[in-house]
Amino acid sequence: MSRTTRIERYRNIGIMAHIDAGKTTLTERILFFTGRIHTVGEVHDGATEMDWMEQEKKRGITITSAATTASWKPMRGPFAGLPHRINILDTPGHVDFTIEVERSLRVLDGAVAVFDASQGVEPQSETVWHQANRHGVPRIAFLNKMDKVGADFAMCVRSIRQRLDANPVPVQLPIGAGPEFTGLIDLPRMKAFLFDGERGEPAEGQEIPAHLRAEAEALRLRLIEACAEVDGTVLQKYVEGRLADITAEELERALRAGTLQRQLVPVLCGAAFKNKGVRMLLDGIINYLPAPSDLPAARGETPGTREPATRAASDEEPLCALVFKLMHDKAVGSIVFLRVYSGTLRTGMAVLNTRQERRERVGRLMFMHANKREEVDEVHAGDICAALNLRGVRTGDTLCAPEAPVLLEALRFPEPVVQLAIEARSRAEQQKMEDGLARLAAEDPSLRVEVDPETGQQLLSGMGELHLEIIVDRLRTEYGVEASVGQPRVAYRETLRQKVRQEYRHVRQTGGPGQFAHVVMEVAPAPRGSGLVFVDETHGGVIPREFIPAIE
Ligand code: GDP
Repeated sequence: MSRTTRIERYRNIGIMAHIDAGKTTLTERILFFTGRIHTVGEVHDGATEMDWMEQEKKRGITITSAATTASWKPMRGPFAGLPHRINILDTPGHVDFTIEVERSLRVLDGAVAVFDASQGVEPQSETVWHQANRHGVPRIAFLNKMDKVGADFAMCVRSIRQRLDANPVPVQLPIGAGPEFTGLIDLPRMKAFLFDGERGEPAEGQEIPAHLRAEAEALRLRLIEACAEVDGTVLQKYVEGRLADITAEELERALRAGTLQRQLVPVLCGAAFKNKGVRMLLDGIINYLPAPSDLPAARGETPGTREPATRAASDEEPLCALVFKLMHDKAVGSIVFLRVYSGTLRTGMAVLNTRQERRERVGRLMFMHANKREEVDEVHAGDICAALNLRGVRTGDTLCAPEAPVLLEALRFPEPVVQLAIEARSRAEQQKMEDGLARLAAEDPSLRVEVDPETGQQLLSGMGELHLEIIVDRLRTEYGVEASVGQPRVAYRETLRQKVRQEYRHVRQTGGPGQFAHVVMEVAPAPRGSGLVFVDETHGGVIPREFIPAIE
């Protein structure tokens, strides 16, 4: 069996946002429109397809990076009518789980940054944005909740420019806002799309309403100028003053090139909750975000010689894949999430786990859709899939063809910041607890389990209090271990202080000269959920929490 979708038609994307911006709702609507789920569940009532684990259902936040496969045929643009495969990597918005964001960013090729249109850039969106910058991830922006009172398109675009130091380029203009949000103007086409109830936007565009004509013209000019910077054809027509001759296809191709080069960020908007703008966003994902084959080859080294090695995104290259997540599932056991960078992986094939220096035989392979698991015999370059029954694998491992060994760059994880002592309630449970913790630590590289050499106590270190609380909860629900825990303590206080000082200073500096803190004072265990507090002695006040997990 050969591949069903050409690699140029893959989009491996993440959806990133501040908590509550509507990431879960949007993901779910995307899965709805791509035909994989047929009922749209309300978020936070436990029916959302992306939230797998008990924890997430209870707390209403998305913790794990589930990878979901969907397909979409864009209605407009250079790829109109061609079926594409979209793999969505879920990235959590809560501050304690930036570690999960970090690992998704490593394996995705592009991202949709979701903002609440009434809020603009919020602290957590800033943190994830900087993480995505570090990973060089091309992005498009989606201003969600345009139906909310107070939604302000222009304010959001400004805040993306100012707070994120990005080059946002609107490709749409909303028609109305709040309860009057009734449609979208497609700026490359200069057509208005008026929403059809709650079923999304129609296929056919109409004339732009007269009162929005001037604003749309101005934004189109801005769009042309941004495109002229990255595309020769657009530039030529622009300098010759032939603006009306510039076609939508030319603009879209230029937008794609600009996004891939990370020179600009196309801005789209809508109201996920009301199904508004979601289909156009799906078109935007295909039109502007990269295919695996658009990106540089995966980098690593040849084991032994340590010579640099690369693997281009092609089936012709030898196999290499990165293990980016392990999950435990009651029904099937351990699930290993893989990003295949090159070659073909087949069931029954022998692969080399380079880091562990051992050979493995690949058991079952599957794609995870929103509501079903699809078993397949082989997966290809560009795929994100799940493998079952792979033993001895840890997050960050490379799997490759034994005759062409390669070790991909490892995933980088920051030092844990909070620590607590944990004790099983009975001797009988001690072994169960140790087994459970070993398994949880294999899944979650930001969790450390160690024994205090002085007291003999078992210590857990993690990314925040909520992170550790969830671990303790999972021990109880998944492993049946009731444990008592001590007070959370700050781990790695000194290094963190130093790093916060650097990072915070950097951020303040980019905000304006002379604004940085000279002294970052005490680090104290903070109220529930926040973990640490840093105080800016020069300017007074608490240093925002979002600077803390952004540190490695
Ligand atoms: P997440 O934390 O980013 O995953 O956000 P959710 O998807 O859970 O959404 C947070 C809240 O915003 C929920 O109550 C949603 O119903 C609401 N919400 C999501 N999208 C929209 C939207 O387009 N318009 C409005 N008015 N509310 C929305």
